[in-house]
Amino acid sequence: MGTIDGLPPLREVIRAHELVAKKQLGQNFLLDLNLTAKIARSAGDLTGCDVLEVGPGPGGLTRGLLAEGARRVVAVEKDARALPALEEIAAAYPGRLEVLHGDALELDLAAHLAPPVKIVANLPYNVGTELLIRWLSPPAWPPIWSSLTLMFQKEVAERIVARPRTGHYGRLALLAQWRCDARIVMTLPPEAFTPAPKVHSAVVQLTALPAPRFPCDFAVLQRITAMAFNQRRKMLRSSLKALGPGIEAKLEAVGIPPTARAEEIGLEAFCALARCIG
Ligand code: SAM
Repeated sequence: MGTIDGLPPLREVIRAHELVAKKQLGQNFLLDLNLTAKIARSAGDLTGCDVLEVGPGPGGLTRGLLAEGARRVVAVEKDARALPALEEIAAAYPGRLEVLHGDALELDLAAHLAPPVKIVANLPYNVGTELLIRWLSPPAWPPIWSSLTLMFQKEVAERIVARPRTGHYGRLALLAQWRCDARIVMTLPPEAFTPAPKVHSAVVQLTALPAPRFPCDFAVLQRITAMAFNQRRKMLRSSLKALGPGIEAKLEAVGIPPTARAEEIGLEAFCALARCIG
């Protein structure tokens, strides 16, 4: 049966290039090109954009991004076995796919991209949150990218979009929502992937705000939210004790009851505390 882009079906690609999934590389592939096109569309209009994709693997999502009209796709893949399959896609879309072989955590990717940039990826689970935190923490804001459309384990996606006073609320929600609008745009069952992972997955759409929602220093916000949520059941006067003897007065000065717990406190109050601690 033909495919929407005339390239071979992904099962054939995987067989031809012997891409047996490796767990240590977080390889759970999407083989349904209708689904990968749908994920590409959830990133909004791609025409005129450079798209950065981390971990293209056999290229299902890459093909979706190209078919949906991305100006260029820059795809970074750690597994050398996938490179020949990706080169076949590059040949079918001349000048529109650049494949980089290496670790996304180590390469300087900005050098390969021209604005406007969107990042779209079915991330390897083992490095997903680390990449997200990096994309959220460039020294200057707004960043090079305008949106991130990222597949995570559903539980991680829920932590990114969580609101105060919920079980998933914590540091990841605060750091993401400080500089972005974040929402879940799609959830997928394990069977959508080959091999099927143990858990459900979800696509999160993060849109960069022109400026952080409330002023404060990113490093200080990171530090206090890490301390506050490492001991999330404790009162803040005790979980933040290491910040010095004046912490109780500082909490009171910004309107946070020292007896409150981290999950009761919203982003605005955490930013006020970060400014007060400086
Ligand atoms: N995008 C493909 C899809 O949707 O079918 C594959 C997604 S699979 C969940 C994750 C991919 O990321 C794999 O191809 C894996 O080899 C690659 N990968 C894992 N760690 C990586 C890293 N540090 N840098 C770049 N790619 C990585």
